[in-house]
Amino acid sequence: MEGNDSTHRPRAARQQNAFTVDVEDYFHVAALSSAIPRDSWGSRELRVEANVERLLTILSDHDVQATFFVLGWLAERTPALVQRIAAAGHEIACHGYSHQLVYRQTPQEFREETVRAKGFLEDTIGHAVHGYRAASFSVTRQSLWALDVLIDAGFRYDSSIFPIHHDLYGIPGATPEPHRVSAPSGRTLAEFPMSAASYLGVQVPVSGGGYFRILPYWLTRAGLTQINERRGRPFAFYLHPWELDTGQPRIKVGAFSRFRHYTNLSRCEARLRRVLKDFAFTSMHAALEQRGLLPLEREPATRPRLAPLPAAALMQGRLPAG
Ligand SMILES: [Zn+2]
Repeated sequence: MEGNDSTHRPRAARQQNAFTVDVEDYFHVAALSSAIPRDSWGSRELRVEANVERLLTILSDHDVQATFFVLGWLAERTPALVQRIAAAGHEIACHGYSHQLVYRQTPQEFREETVRAKGFLEDTIGHAVHGYRAASFSVTRQSLWALDVLIDAGFRYDSSIFPIHHDLYGIPGATPEPHRVSAPSGRTLAEFPMSAASYLGVQVPVSGGGYFRILPYWLTRAGLTQINERRGRPFAFYLHPWELDTGQPRIKVGAFSRFRHYTNLSRCEARLRRVLKDFAFTSMHAALEQRGLLPLEREPATRPRLAPLPAAALMQGRLPAG
């Protein structure tokens, strides 16, 4: 039985689903990477701050506490944004550092960049970061070693496994509900996999991102209801701040990538408000805790609360927000 303490949960919502945001800018996206060299990132206008503000307003309007998986590269340039999200009552989690796919890194590279990103986030907010999500859900059969790296780095949960077949990611047949996943060493970690609904036997990842913008809302709603009610499990919803941003620069990439990235940006906010009304959401940490997959007690901060960052550090690397 889920917690029933919220006062105005919508009728259809029984499962506490996880609402998550992958905090990165439009130029970090894998679908545009062929046209945006990595070494140009630093000279691009950051649009993420204004888009996160919009998300914070929308979430606050619906009284939802969410999890923000923040990219380390971005966090180092916008520490005040990370603090702003945390101050609004949301969970800060880690989206790695470089947005490089896990299975394109060596375990050593992955370890170094993940520890760097986690440490920076913890120093910025003054307490421990427990959750991890890989760029493009790239924990696959060939990169399950990453789970051991995450355990060693002190993470309590992962949300990087997509139990579907996809060209870039996915572990078809992986356990679809939140569970304790075994790392190659035999140790376990809480896993909140990404969610898919089944339409005529085809698995469709309806719970966020491009599918959420491209499919008609009634189809998304039917799929999410199926996961909650027929399958009896919560789903992990995910979105990127740039998915609300109709003013972002249009990058010249192939037709499929253009379709995946730019379709229905202008409809995203209205849809988001509907999904927040139609289903019940909480942070991923809280959802896992409610299912007994994480220790119940709130452990004390493992890192000292730091003094506010000096203005110079806050400004470092920041570009005009436009
Ligand atoms: Zn990402």
